[in-house]
Amino acid sequence: MTGAATLLRDVFGFDAFRPGQQEIVEAVTAGENVLAIMPTGGGKSLCFQLPALMRDGVTVVISPLIALMRDQVRSLQEVGVAAGALTSGNTPEETDAVFQALEAGTLKLLYMAPERLAAGAAMGLLRRSNVRLIAVDEAHCVSQWGHDFRPDYLRIGELRRSLGVPLAAFTATADAETQAEIVQKLFDGTPPTAFLRGFDRPNIHLAFSTKNSPRSQILSFASARKGQSGIVYCGTRAKTEGIAGALRDAGHEAMHYHGGMEAADRRQAERRFQQEDGLIVVATVAFGMGIDKPDIRWVAHADLPKSIEAYYQEIGRAGRDGAPAETLTLFGPEDIRLRRSQIDEGLAPPERRAADHARLNALLGLAEALECRRKTLLGYFDETEITCGRCDLCDTPAEVFDGTTAVRKALSAILRTDERFGAGHLIDVLTGNETDKIRQHGHAGLPTYGVGTEYDRRQWQAVFRQMMGHDLVRPDPERHGALRMTDAALPLLRGETTISLRRDSIAAAADNRRPAV
Ligand code: ADP
Ligand code: ZN
Repeated sequence: MTGAATLLRDVFGFDAFRPGQQEIVEAVTAGENVLAIMPTGGGKSLCFQLPALMRDGVTVVISPLIALMRDQVRSLQEVGVAAGALTSGNTPEETDAVFQALEAGTLKLLYMAPERLAAGAAMGLLRRSNVRLIAVDEAHCVSQWGHDFRPDYLRIGELRRSLGVPLAAFTATADAETQAEIVQKLFDGTPPTAFLRGFDRPNIHLAFSTKNSPRSQILSFASARKGQSGIVYCGTRAKTEGIAGALRDAGHEAMHYHGGMEAADRRQAERRFQQEDGLIVVATVAFGMGIDKPDIRWVAHADLPKSIEAYYQEIGRAGRDGAPAETLTLFGPEDIRLRRSQIDEGLAPPERRAADHARLNALLGLAEALECRRKTLLGYFDETEITCGRCDLCDTPAEVFDGTTAVRKALSAILRTDERFGAGHLIDVLTGNETDKIRQHGHAGLPTYGVGTEYDRRQWQAVFRQMMGHDLVRPDPERHGALRMTDAALPLLRGETTISLRRDSIAAAADNRRPAV
């Protein structure tokens, strides 16, 4: 492909393709239907821009991010490529110019917001123009279950059928479920040529920590990185305001961001973050898509994300410039309970809920991983050839011990109390605590009563948290906080398997007797 190499150099100013780009460019240029899954910052725009120049006619690019579309159009125009956009942000003159270029047949790339497809006029216009390729950016927006769902994305399949041209879909969301949904909705179920690779972001350091006093944990993480741009993700809107305030009190430049704010305030926060150095944004997941700041130096999670996918996307916003970046994710039993109940109480059909639990389990497995986080994370995306050396577990290997006996005692306490109690009461049973509730239920007479005095409360909490992390027990959605055993625990109970637990989180629990904030 000398043509492609020449365009790469002369138009885009790059010496070489990045890993994965060339194969995708070749397939798209050849007119194959393509699904390309590339990590954020991997250089996907080139994978449809270059083929658009290699092919006859015009390429329609569907993207949900107006600001990014306008940026791309501007940079293409600067290097002499005939590109235009139809978005709600256009001036009438801009729109006229696009229509004229389309009619004259000179336009090479036409960017469109998906909302445009809802207007019948746009479909007609595209049918009359010489459209030869459709490129779909952020293709996971077609997935009804993801948090980025855009209803108008469902019209893209219809557009493809009506134009009868190849389609190339791009996303950074790698899980099998979302991929299947993209194939269903955009390609009518006929599998396109798929490219999946390069999910490692070697410059991002990965670390998890059990949540003891989240506010001070986040504050000390941020203070070690004073003056650097960072994001703190929180599970609730109220918490974003609290932590942002605490950071400001500690002398940081910090602002909060969530979906409940006025649109104008959100835009202002985004603009400040984009333009200023050293600003911290404390946000819900509403903050992120469309933020294109290459030098975010750190991302911290004050609460556990909802899935391994969400985790990957959120930490992936750090270090897009390739320079070292740090992450820290806090997690505790409350997070696990919250995320489980969000799934159970959601409106999704049962099979979807099972998949969501599995994705949460994958994240919990990562949180409780016994060796290299990166290998565990990328293993989930089917990548195996990984070298790390940049994660907390490579820095300091976890010390593990045989936790089989402890876990069996805990399971026994759960079963002998008919799976009707939460960890707090179960720990009272195990440690032989004399509480009103113990007396009321006659639990002092249980064979399990007082069999767990080798650990204190905090240590038992760490055992229960790790049991939740291994999905041996789950909170009962019908009974707030009550733990039920899962089938995964049966082999342990029967003595068929053993389980390793992390000693550090048990020891850390013992060291940290401060009340949680
Ligand atoms: P994303 O996959 O997140 O959409 P972009 O397409 O915005 O990523 O590309 C990320 C960055 O990588 C951009 O700054 C782009 O100019 C740069 N880039 C893309 N391809 C190459 C390449 N072959 N060589 C060098 N830089 C590249
Ligand atoms: Zn590692």
